[in-house]
Amino acid sequence: MRHTRNLLSAALLLALIFLVGTEESKAQADWTEPFPAFRIAGNLYYVGSKGLANYLITTPQGHILINSDLEANVPLIRASIESLGFKFTDVKILLISHAHYDHDAGSDMIKKLTGAKYMVMEGDVPVVESGGKSDFHYGNDPVQLYPPTKVDRVLRDGDQVKLGDAVLTARLTPGHTRGCTTWTMKVKEGGKTRDVVIVGSPNVNPGYKLVGNSVYPGIAEDFERTFQVLKSLPCDYFLGAHGSYFDLETKYSQLKAGVSTAFIDPVGYQNYVADRERAFRRELAKQKGG
Ligand SMILES: [Zn+2]
Repeated sequence: MRHTRNLLSAALLLALIFLVGTEESKAQADWTEPFPAFRIAGNLYYVGSKGLANYLITTPQGHILINSDLEANVPLIRASIESLGFKFTDVKILLISHAHYDHDAGSDMIKKLTGAKYMVMEGDVPVVESGGKSDFHYGNDPVQLYPPTKVDRVLRDGDQVKLGDAVLTARLTPGHTRGCTTWTMKVKEGGKTRDVVIVGSPNVNPGYKLVGNSVYPGIAEDFERTFQVLKSLPCDYFLGAHGSYFDLETKYSQLKAGVSTAFIDPVGYQNYVADRERAFRRELAKQKGG
């Protein structure tokens, strides 16, 4: 009897590992899956893969690129930029959403290929310069480490990044990483000026300790700050570090079908932020209760 029960538990455990495993690989399989590059609005373009978002802001004085992704993504990003008729080597400034390998592992390669200046929020600087080793949660996971990359300009909340006529504002939205950055800018489209928000990440990852975290003691307060900031931002164009945040695929199909306003989604933005805040509060209550 006991033997049968043990066998059953072992089978269940295996099934569980398999399920979790496939969920994970499903989520990551689209990281390196090519996606068509396209103009979102004004001088703002999508140049990311299906699962990892990259944005190109073009000016006659060169371009700003947001996120470098995995090293395997760099050729995809280059091809996307070139498919739009721009030069990869005209990327003058490289920015990131936050210092996790799926957004910053290719930074050293991109710096070498383009000579771009790398500008990173203060809290994430030690992480990118140590190649992920000083990350509060993933620093000991070899899979998530990458070539250490020198930062050329340290950013603080509210700092502006300017190139030609482009101006981006860095908003500190910490918790997911210490220097997690939400980028805002304005675009001119159809005679109107509109607000763009590129969300860094409001997500409490599996295993994140919100209570009694000795490595990152202020993590819960930082998430609180993030939700305050995100709720205060005016948003027409809702974008983020992963296409899944803002339903890239659905909106892209709508755009292709002729809906030029497909990516204007202020309500979707508010709903997303509210949903992520509820998830944070649930997790915080659970950890406080336990
Ligand atoms: Zn992340």
